[in-house]
Amino acid sequence: MPLTNMFKAKGLKRRWLVNNLGLVALILLVFVAVFCITAYNFYYTNLTSQLIARADTTALFLQTYQSSDPTLFFENTRRYAEEFVDRDKMEFQVIQRNERVRYSSSDGLFSGFDPGTPDVATALKQQKTTSYAGEDSFTKERVLSVTAPLYFPNGELAGAVRMITGLRNVDQIILTLCLISIFVAVSIFGFVLFTNSYFLRSILNPVQEINEITKQIAAGEYGGTIEKKFDDEIGELADSINFMSSEIGKSEMLKNDFISSVSHELRTPLTAITGWAETLQQQSSFEKDSLEQRGLAVIARESQNLRQMVEELLDFSRIQSGRMVINKTPIDIAAELEDSMFSFEQRLRQDGLYVTYENRMGDDVIIQGDRARLHQVFINILDNARKYSLPGGTIDLSISLDQAAGMVEIRITDHGVGIAPEDLPHIKQKFYKGKSRQPGSGIGLAVCDEIVMLHNGTLTLESKVGEGTTAIIRLPLR
Ligand code: ADP
Repeated sequence: MPLTNMFKAKGLKRRWLVNNLGLVALILLVFVAVFCITAYNFYYTNLTSQLIARADTTALFLQTYQSSDPTLFFENTRRYAEEFVDRDKMEFQVIQRNERVRYSSSDGLFSGFDPGTPDVATALKQQKTTSYAGEDSFTKERVLSVTAPLYFPNGELAGAVRMITGLRNVDQIILTLCLISIFVAVSIFGFVLFTNSYFLRSILNPVQEINEITKQIAAGEYGGTIEKKFDDEIGELADSINFMSSEIGKSEMLKNDFISSVSHELRTPLTAITGWAETLQQQSSFEKDSLEQRGLAVIARESQNLRQMVEELLDFSRIQSGRMVINKTPIDIAAELEDSMFSFEQRLRQDGLYVTYENRMGDDVIIQGDRARLHQVFINILDNARKYSLPGGTIDLSISLDQAAGMVEIRITDHGVGIAPEDLPHIKQKFYKGKSRQPGSGIGLAVCDEIVMLHNGTLTLESKVGEGTTAIIRLPLR
């Protein structure tokens, strides 16, 4: 997994990053820090104690075995400095009481020079061996210097002896060790990252697959099955979901069969009821506005509504079983829209609603479409506009051409109650009615959407609560 992706990670990956990798990184960081500090302390302590021992024994040697005559004493220390055997490893200096160098193993290079490091002053003032690690005032290099007080044989302070060694080698060793420890830590981190991401992928990939399939199931597709890759908890989950999917699929089929057969059974008596109600209305000798006439009008209207519902249910079961087909022929789309509008105008007027119509296309536009099905879509959307409009309102229809996209665009706008934003994304789903209390099965728009899709077009709804709704139907020119 690339590092940049890791930082964009969400969910499980993020938790893994923070909990697991974060902890490993912290432990490795502590390990590197402790290792480097220990290495530093070890080398510096070792070197300091070696130098202290050397300075102390040298001071003792010079005090014990040399003459108590100051001139002779210092003459001997000069000779000791000149003959100093370890000059390749360190420098030896004899310091006067005024903190200046009297003799040095470096061929008198530093004679009269004031080293200026704190160990010299402390050793002379407090008369105790003192060490200092830091920059040398002369060479500007990092050095370790140890100064031990030097006494004449009679115990009087003669000055001090100073051992100085460069720290470059030691620092180099410590740096190398630290770099090695960092390399080891990074390698461990890389290994943990690799093994864990493999493990994580073996969990996440099936989980993602399961997620996809459950989304499909939620959207009404029950066929998909999840491949069982591992015989573990994830595999068991895959089995359960596959079983659930097939069971839902079976009951869904049962439901569709039931809806289909009930709708078919209802259609025949409903046709008879509507037919007889209309016949009686026209031919009976009942007086106008008599109770019988009004009763017949109610029977005719309500049975008509019921028939429409039954037709929608039949369409629904056609969609579910993939039997919904459209028969495309060349049609004048504006004329079809106008026909639907005129046939529905009477119904709208009964509810005190008015229609405005605008054809912005100019010439007749012929498209390939199913006349009856498109009529059904227009009527359905007009009926929705009617149901959710306020009395005295208008419904605005327009048809225009989107040449660039090669589409005809039909807009049906009402100025009614509108659709709540939380309902809007679901409004085309089957049986979804939102907060509506109006009669209807909630599948009208689902059927319209399917019909428009079968024409390779789109149906979208735009709405604002309290302002109204616009249904936009876009159909391809070719
Ligand atoms: P129904 O048969 O219930 O009208 P539809 O699928 O046609 O079913 O509509 C689904 C839901 O969408 C309706 O119940 C209603 O809540 C909402 N709806 C559709 N059209 C409009 C509209 N023009 N104004 C307000 N709400 C609408």
